[in-house]
Amino acid sequence: LPEVDADHLRSDLEEALEAARSERDGEPSDYLEDVQHHGVDGLAAAVCTTDGEVAVAGDADARFALQSVSKALTYAVVLEEVGLDETLEHVGVEPSGEAFNHLSLHDDGRPYNPLINAGAIMAHALVPGDDPEARVRFLLERYSALAGEELEVDQDVVDAEQERADRNLGLAHLLADGGRLPIPAREAVEGYLAQCSVTVGAEQLAVMGATLAAGGVNPRTGERVLREDVAQQAMSVMLTCGMYNASGQWVAEVGIPAKSGVSGALLGAVPGALGIATWSPRLDERGNSLRGIAVFEDLTRRWDLHVLQHH
Ligand code: GLN
Repeated sequence: LPEVDADHLRSDLEEALEAARSERDGEPSDYLEDVQHHGVDGLAAAVCTTDGEVAVAGDADARFALQSVSKALTYAVVLEEVGLDETLEHVGVEPSGEAFNHLSLHDDGRPYNPLINAGAIMAHALVPGDDPEARVRFLLERYSALAGEELEVDQDVVDAEQERADRNLGLAHLLADGGRLPIPAREAVEGYLAQCSVTVGAEQLAVMGATLAAGGVNPRTGERVLREDVAQQAMSVMLTCGMYNASGQWVAEVGIPAKSGVSGALLGAVPGALGIATWSPRLDERGNSLRGIAVFEDLTRRWDLHVLQHH
């Protein structure tokens, strides 16, 4: 990072947003349109450095559901709670190369990775708690610690998700049939859809990214939320699997561990440097935010953020 004072970060962010606004392709997800409360051309971005410096640009007040971004957060929480070995017995770390809702399983019945739906449902099933409410409460508390602010579930989003849950229920039942799902399929999907419906703003999401980037310590509150090895494992999987079947291209062009969601949210974490969050509902055919991708492409070049670059 060249200059890390908040003013400089904000003016760079604003330039990146301005360029991204010319992106007019893509559509927001149709089933969420009623509950997103924002226009299709909404756009917000925020960064939080590992020193806790924050800058926000665009629709700073917009609130949006985490959706699939929650998959990366739940994976980290589960690693912290049950450890790497037990987690790996339930879900792998291989990019699947398939769409997010594809049933990509290893021969032994484990989902390929925790950032596609099958693996995310499995990871959710490893969250401590005796019923869906308890598991969601546990996650909300941990997500809030990552963000440094109290977060909530948006019930309207939950309802919209429940309306179209057949595919997720199908995936969960197949996982249960494979014998590796530790809780009933219905409970796993109910809790997973609630975690997808946790609402954030760009700034909160950037702080979550910064907590990962800082090795698990929230730079705003000073709380250690995750062990260093857990943050590293979560970011590893984000780097290789976070953008679904566009993950290879993402590593080559952007090179930042990241996770996208169908709400148009995009979370990035650059180890030792900063968290980045964008939100814009227009999605490409793989379900990734087009303007969000444009902002990340700009920032990675502007600030030399590619994690594999030669220094
Ligand atoms: N709740 C959505 C689902 O599982 C999340 C999908 C996504 O963000 N790609 O269908």
